[in-house]
Parts: sequence; C-alpha cells; structure tokens
Amino acid sequence: MKIGILGGGQLARMLALAGYPLGLQFVVLDPSADACAAQVASLIQADYDDENALKQLADEVDLVTFEFENVPAASLAFLKDNCPVYPPPAALQIAQDRLQEKNMFCKLNIPVPEFRDVQSKHDLQQAVAEIGLPAVLKTRSMGYDGKGQIVLKSSEDIEPAWQTLGGQLLILEAMVAFDREVSIIGARNRQGDTVFYPLSENLHHQGILHCARCLGSDDLQVLAEGYIKSIFSEMDYVGVLALELFVVNGQLLANEIAPRVHNSGHWTIEGAQISQFENHLRAVIDWPLGNTDPVEFAAMVNFIGAMPEARDIIQLTDVHLHHYHKAPRPGRKIGHATVRKRSSEDLAEAVDTLLRIAPVVKD
Ligand code: AMP
Repeated sequence: MKIGILGGGQLARMLALAGYPLGLQFVVLDPSADACAAQVASLIQADYDDENALKQLADEVDLVTFEFENVPAASLAFLKDNCPVYPPPAALQIAQDRLQEKNMFCKLNIPVPEFRDVQSKHDLQQAVAEIGLPAVLKTRSMGYDGKGQIVLKSSEDIEPAWQTLGGQLLILEAMVAFDREVSIIGARNRQGDTVFYPLSENLHHQGILHCARCLGSDDLQVLAEGYIKSIFSEMDYVGVLALELFVVNGQLLANEIAPRVHNSGHWTIEGAQISQFENHLRAVIDWPLGNTDPVEFAAMVNFIGAMPEARDIIQLTDVHLHHYHKAPRPGRKIGHATVRKRSSEDLAEAVDTLLRIAPVVKD
C-alpha cells in the first residue's frame, strides 16, 4: 500500500520510518527540493496548490494524509475528489483558524481562555477593556511556534501591536498564568475505535516546544480524554490528533488542536508500545489501533537551530538520537533525542543533561 503525505518535513519522515516495517510505501509532496522526508520517500516537488501535482499524487497512492497544517483548504478539497484523504479536511480548516477552533471548543463545552474576535483597532481596544491585561494578540491563521503573536502588557503596547499585526484576522486571548502546559494525543480509526496516550507535559522556549515528558498517570488524564473524544465525534475524525492544554488550578483550558502527529508525542517512538506515527498510519488505513502504554518513563528534548555532536548524545545511556538532516537555521527544529528510564528520578536527571548539551539557537 502506498501513502501520500502533504508536507515533507520531519513528521512525514518519521511517518515513513514507522511505515516501512509494516510494508507501506510513501510519496511526499513538498515545495522544497531538500525536504527531509524525501530521503526516505519519493518526492513530488511542487507547490501545495499545484493541481497537476496533486492529481499526480492522488493517482500514485491509495490515500493521502498530511503533516503540514497550512495546506490550502482548496487543495484538500481537490485531492478529496480524486482519492481518500484523512484526517478529514474540515478538521484542518478548523485548526487553521484560531477563532473557529475556539468556537468549536465552546460548542463542545471545553473550557478556553477568554478570547475576542479582533477585526479593527476599535475591536482591539474594546477587547482589552473587557479581557484585561496581560493578553496575547494572535493572528487567526498561519501562526506556529509562537509566530504571529504579541503579548500586551500595558495599554501602551496596543498601538505598536496593531501596527505590526493589524490588517490580518486576529484574536485577543487572556494571558493565562498556567501552572503547566500539557497535551493529549489520541488516534481514531475509520471504524471509530480510539486510543489515547498518557498526557505529556510540555516546556516551551520562546514559543517553541523544547521538552516533552510523558506523565504516565495523571489526575487530569480522564478529563483530557473526555475533551479529545468529543472533538473526535464532532469531526468524525480519522487519524492522530493532538490537543494542547493549559493547566490552571487543577483545571484544563484548551489552547489549540493539531490534526496530525505532534511534536509532544515524539517520545512515543521509543517510549510507548506503539508510536503515534504507527498509530496514525493504522488509523488512516483502518487497521486495528496499537497499544499506547508507555514503556518505562520517557521524555523528549528538541534540538532547535543547531545539532549537538552525535557522539555526545549517543554516549548517554538509554538515549535515542533522531537527526532530521535539515539545514540548521535559528528557531528551526532539526532533531530530537528521546530518553527512557526505569524511574522518574533517573529520567529527570537525564533530561537535565540533555538540556545542558542541546544548544538552542533562536532568532
Ligand atoms: P500557540 O501557538 O498558541 O500554541 O502558542 C505558543 C505558546 O505560547 C504556548 O505553548 C504558550 O506557552 C504560549 N501561549 C499561547 N497562548 C497563550 C495564552 N493565552 N496564555 C499564556 N500563554 C500562551
């Protein structure tokens, strides 16, 4: 069976690496000639809205999935007329727009930070008056890794923020003084069977995920599973989905969804019985889903902007190196390491060591 993937970055690369042992083959579509997944899959180099290329992809494969969130909705609609596409394009459309996403959370009674739709400077002033400061002004679409966001701390920040982001569709969110950030990753196949990984606790460095640790058992697991289950049903979802959440005073507030495999689940490659990548493939093919139980205590540290020396990483006991073969650029995720230990104390120590070794180069 041949799977098409829109986007040829590290997520596509890890999907292909998970799929080869299962006898699957992969074709990725990406505008870049040096897309890192092209080292392990065949590449159609084209823009995401190139209908000839999309048709070629649909003709070559049995189904198409995606690893990249900013694929134009029209391209997915076009593809869907030519071959099966999972997750459902409607899920991608909602994830591409923070306002639609927040409205969906509200409809499903999933708590969110206070937010307002901002279409003018007057809306922004009104939203600040209603929500208060500090608050975060965000573009509704195309934002990732903290891009397209400005924190407003005082009313003097309103004008410069409007100068920078005004003219785009915006949303203002209350700045949440969270205790920690977590995410839950689940998979649903075409039959409607579901599985969920344990919550992951996520640490960010200037908006970019730096470290994710599997929480094993956590009091908030059942609540988070309830939220992601209602999103699955609402969207008749197929594939892996991540839901990012803020923990505040023992409650969960939804931040955003990612309708794809997710960076906070990279620890599942060595840290769970079946990884998020294999489970995504199983879900979209409609195979039985795999066991999500963690294997020991696991965590992941991203390499951002620069790779450490391979030797420095692999000499650490129980550490697994993942090098994406991407050109280093400030702020770019170019690899990660997973660590698995028998105790949470050993895990914490190993993560500290990795964080010391891993340079972060950000612009
Ligand atoms: P996002 O692109 O919305 O996931 O934002 C990136 C990171 O910025 C999040 O993981 C948080 O660390 C931080 N952030 C985003 N929105 C908020 C918010 N409303 N309150 C506090 N921190 C936020």
